[in-house]
Amino acid sequence: MVDAKKVKDMVAKKSSQFVGNIASGGKVPPHKHCRICQDPISVKAEPRICKQETCIEQNEKDEKNQKTVRIAMFVFFGLFAIPYLLALATRVMG
Ligand SMILES: [Zn+2]
Repeated sequence: MVDAKKVKDMVAKKSSQFVGNIASGGKVPPHKHCRICQDPISVKAEPRICKQETCIEQNEKDEKNQKTVRIAMFVFFGLFAIPYLLALATRVMG
């Protein structure tokens, strides 16, 4: 018999250790970088760009492009994922 409570405690301990390591290991305070020019910006900055006009303009252009890219990606991944999943399913069953 496996003691479910014991296992749960062990998992909780391990995961808290894991999180602790990450928190104490990072020397750089939390920050983000402008996605255009990579300047450090506030963590709360949304969208993730600095205040430069060129970056704001570039970001707007990118957002428009991203919509197109996202649709293309869906189609692209769909074309790949469906045969891949089918192959995986037949492999598992066979
Ligand atoms: Zn910038």
